[in-house]
Amino acid sequence: MSQKILEALKAQGPELDRRYQAVKEKKLNLDMTRGKPCSEQLDLANGLISNLGPNEYKAEDGTDCRNYGGVDGLPEAKRLFSEFLEVAPSEILIGDNSSLALMYECVALGLSHGVPGGAGPWSREKPKFLCPAPGYDRHFAICEHFGIEMISVDMTPDGPDMDKVEALVAEDASIKGIWIVPKYQNPTGITCSPRTVGRLSKMKTKAPDFRIFWDNAYAHHHLTDSPPRLENLLSAAKAEGNGDRVLVFGSTSKVSWAGSGVAMVGATEKNVGWLRGHRGKATIGPDKVSQLRHVKFFKDMDGVRAHMKKHQDILKPKFDKVIEIFEREMGGKGIATWTKPLGGYFISLDTLDGCAKAVVKMAADVGVKLTEAGGTHPYGKDPRDRNIRIAPSLPKLPEIEVAMEVVALCVARASLAKLSG
Ligand code: PLP
Repeated sequence: MSQKILEALKAQGPELDRRYQAVKEKKLNLDMTRGKPCSEQLDLANGLISNLGPNEYKAEDGTDCRNYGGVDGLPEAKRLFSEFLEVAPSEILIGDNSSLALMYECVALGLSHGVPGGAGPWSREKPKFLCPAPGYDRHFAICEHFGIEMISVDMTPDGPDMDKVEALVAEDASIKGIWIVPKYQNPTGITCSPRTVGRLSKMKTKAPDFRIFWDNAYAHHHLTDSPPRLENLLSAAKAEGNGDRVLVFGSTSKVSWAGSGVAMVGATEKNVGWLRGHRGKATIGPDKVSQLRHVKFFKDMDGVRAHMKKHQDILKPKFDKVIEIFEREMGGKGIATWTKPLGGYFISLDTLDGCAKAVVKMAADVGVKLTEAGGTHPYGKDPRDRNIRIAPSLPKLPEIEVAMEVVALCVARASLAKLSG
């Protein structure tokens, strides 16, 4: 098989080099590194800027949102965002704009003080986290920052490899957590199957204070009108008597504004009380005016869903363009595979083993910046050096077209170099 691929590439070698030189002369400057919303998407929520009148600063319970207080959120914001996260209003804490900051805070608190059900701070016993890979680089960065050992677990089409997860958590009490992006995972686009959710809710963990960081960042970010259903992990775990192991995170970063949205944690009342208690030492209250603006803007989940449809209309052609170019340039050549996600922000490209770093460098050398190869794995080390995360949301369609043609060209050249030895 490799021999056949090599022969085909060899025949195209001079043409690939000629095209690469031609691209170099264009002096491109395209950035496909991060999954940021584009300005057209941000514009969709511009109503937030002016939707409160000069005297509209009171919440429904009379709270003056301009003042201190309300450490876990306004009642009307809890009502809307508990539906957004699929938890009860008593099972939510609303923070400021970043769910990543809330994840960081929960990890930091686990290390410094411990979590309910544990015997003390995690830092006493050299904690470890399971890291499904490929996965979200910033989750791995949090672990690295705190010196938490990361154990890589493969992603399967159903979510993390549950045979491995169950075996590891059953025997090692120092494994304190797992990162999971359950819907439209970053970067694979995979949604955890009902069986995976069931197994996570039931599995025996040696650590009584184990936590699943269920980062549902893309819960409502569909690229299809018939999205896959994600089972509710918190409900399933509560039914098994394991509710405290689940921390659900979400935000409106890619619903309203990434820099000025609303972030939240959903969890059992015990866990919410734990976080509220600690947060009360760190802040006298989050940005309640932003919460009020968001409730007024979206009104209810129908409002959120209608809004997300507008995001879909902007994003879908961009994802389609990436896939169209990949199929046209690399389809049937045996040099790469790629995902066709039903939602979320990323396409995951797998090259032949040992080619991803070379592709990213080759593309950067002609002005197309991609996410660093290896970034989707713990410690920045992709053991097969094959995964590249493609983020199509920010650039415009013509830029995506050019950038993806360059990526495909670089994949072909890197494959030729690799197979030629
Ligand atoms: N979680 C995942 C899986 C993400 O991909 C991102 C952003 O790319 C975030 C969290 C960031 O969330 P927030 O903006 O709420 O901090």
